[in-house]
Amino acid sequence: MLLRMSTLLLRTLREDPADAEVPSHRLLLRAGYVRRAAPGGYTWLPLGKLVLDRVTEIVRAEMAAIGDQEVHFPALLPAEPYRTSGRWTEYGDDIFTLEDRKGAEHLLAPTHEEMAALLVKDLFSSYRDFPVTLFQIQTKFRDEARPRAGLLRGREFLMKDAYSFDLDEAGLQAAYDRHRDAYQRIFTRLGLDFTVVRAMSGAMGGSASEEFLAATPVGEDTYVGCTTCDYAANTEAVVTRAPAAGDPDAHPALEVHDTPETPTIASLVDLANARALGGRTGWTAADTLKNVVLAVRRPGAEQAELLVIGLPGDREVDLKRVEAALHPATVTVFEDWAAHPELVRGYLGPQILAKHGVRYLVDPRVVTGTAWLTGANEPGRHATDVVCGRDFVPDGTIEAAEVRPGDSCPACGDGELTMRRGIEVGHIFQLGRRFTDAFAVDVLGPEGKPVRPTMGCYGIGVSRAVASVAEQHHDDRGLVWPAEVAPCDVHLVAAGKGPQLDAALDLGGRLSAAGLRVLVDDRTHVSAGVKFTDAELIGIPRAVVVGRRLAEGYVELRDRASGERIELPVDGLVERLLDEARGARRGGV
Ligand code: ATP
Ligand code: MG
Repeated sequence: MLLRMSTLLLRTLREDPADAEVPSHRLLLRAGYVRRAAPGGYTWLPLGKLVLDRVTEIVRAEMAAIGDQEVHFPALLPAEPYRTSGRWTEYGDDIFTLEDRKGAEHLLAPTHEEMAALLVKDLFSSYRDFPVTLFQIQTKFRDEARPRAGLLRGREFLMKDAYSFDLDEAGLQAAYDRHRDAYQRIFTRLGLDFTVVRAMSGAMGGSASEEFLAATPVGEDTYVGCTTCDYAANTEAVVTRAPAAGDPDAHPALEVHDTPETPTIASLVDLANARALGGRTGWTAADTLKNVVLAVRRPGAEQAELLVIGLPGDREVDLKRVEAALHPATVTVFEDWAAHPELVRGYLGPQILAKHGVRYLVDPRVVTGTAWLTGANEPGRHATDVVCGRDFVPDGTIEAAEVRPGDSCPACGDGELTMRRGIEVGHIFQLGRRFTDAFAVDVLGPEGKPVRPTMGCYGIGVSRAVASVAEQHHDDRGLVWPAEVAPCDVHLVAAGKGPQLDAALDLGGRLSAAGLRVLVDDRTHVSAGVKFTDAELIGIPRAVVVGRRLAEGYVELRDRASGERIELPVDGLVERLLDEARGARRGGV
């Protein structure tokens, strides 16, 4: 392949585009890989399409290598199967829905579990047909609340989605492990620094689920690791260790105190210590029970429901964790105090919630037998020795509290949690029978009785992966593509016209004939300096500069990543670059 910059559909930009807030977005726009065409929608320019195709091919090859079979479902689908599975309402505003000319409802698919289950039901009838795994690489549509950061969160994006069907748990586990291994190979080949973390199952239901997060400060996910063991989890999925329950009757009786002007935890703790509330000092925020009122709206529900969450006063509520725990409901901070006079703002305690039929969930640290300083449900008053299991009984627990660096590890209990930010590039789920139940996918078992297959689903954000690689591989001069995903192997720069240009084109022809992907900067109306700047911006791993020293038979080889420059004789250059490219490609499938 030989691309000539003189004719390539490419305009590099000197300045950062105003609307691009993250490095990958900025650089992919500036270096001419993509153009924004719609809100959350991007056009792939020739260089971008080459990178996208290379990433796609790596994903495709690794899927085929574990025996997955490629199919291609329509993206435009009738609503019915999604109604049957419940996801029409569950996805809510996140799906694009439309009507055809007859008024029949359709959607642009956000993923294809329904179609995969129906296809298997349609074609397979015996246990002998299993196991089977299907995959596709296809454009997905989601009406994201906040499309942002270019390709990282689009409304239209390329996904690889795979669906495994097995007859028993052991089969599902094996399929899951196979995909987990393949994903490790894929993301390693893409040159990504990634971590596999425990995840919430989100929109899919089901049980075991892990995410592949590429580390980057611009990522929307936070995840934890342990300083001692190998625990790693999305912050949403961190489970708090509950202390042992105690005897609720081992505490003094609840006592109400006047605590004027103490609507905040800090003001309450100050007053409690100043006045030795409950006959003691040494009060800290962790001794108080903070009660946060939220409005929870289930998909399809007309009205939001009230939910109060109780947690130690030294912790904030993390709304992302709450939403993950209450999925698919959406959660907002409660505002309508006027409509609920029974809830006394700033002085709310759980003692009265059951009486008013308000749902109350607590942080796992709030166990039976713990005593708290909390609101007395009257303006300017708080109560001490408000005991869980005696003065209030929660309706359950919820993982709502923020996770903080330094928290003790829920897995080993010894280490401390560290936190990083990342972007989800892949997600694997053991789905179970949610979709095969919904569509009654039954096949004849070995004993003549019907068996219902169990499913796994496995996604990779292919277009997001391109941006994630760019996010991790750039410097202040531009992109620095790893060899496996670079749009070209070599960027030939003709520093001057005449013989230098001729030699560059000749080298380009020979390199491309030998199977390398080559970009030649054969523009005659721009300076060598501009060409060098563009070469760094575009980020192809090797540049060969054909300049003044050509007269003596030498060119310069530049390594984009290390910045190393060496002079080499033109003779033997093709062989050398070929050898290097072969080396870089080894280890592939
Ligand atoms: P996120 O939490 O980032 O919204 P998700 O959990 O909704 O992602 P999945 O349903 O697991 O996404 O989809 C599989 C993969 O598709 C994700 O791991 C991610 O890499 C990619 N993906 C999801 N949404 C988008 C999007 N809006 N733009 C680009 N890629 C996406
Ligand atoms: Mg996900």
